Amino acid sequence: MKSSEIRVGVTYVNRGAGRTQRKVLAIGNEHRPRQWLSNSRPPDEPGVFFEQKGKQDNLYLSSFVSWAKSPVVCDHPWHQNPALITACPGCGAFG
Ligand SMILES: [Zn+2]
Repeated sequence: MKSSEIRVGVTYVNRGAGRTQRKVLAIGNEHRPRQWLSNSRPPDEPGVFFEQKGKQDNLYLSSFVSWAKSPVVCDHPWHQNPALITACPGCGAFG
């Protein structure tokens, strides 16, 4: 995915088995991870605040992009009309 495709309110599934889901709660510089476990400088980019199985955590945006395979699409009828300019009320996806 591209970083521009990560949006607040949308749930994403991971690459590989695709059994892990994370819902994006917020994106911004104030949501960067508090710890950077590396000797290199932390990336200069926003953080993603997300929820996974009821637990909240943070990742740098590029890390979340690497993790995510695609948005989780629900069965709301919104998905049958992708011309709508509003997000899906069921899962928050955009057309
Ligand atoms: Zn949906």
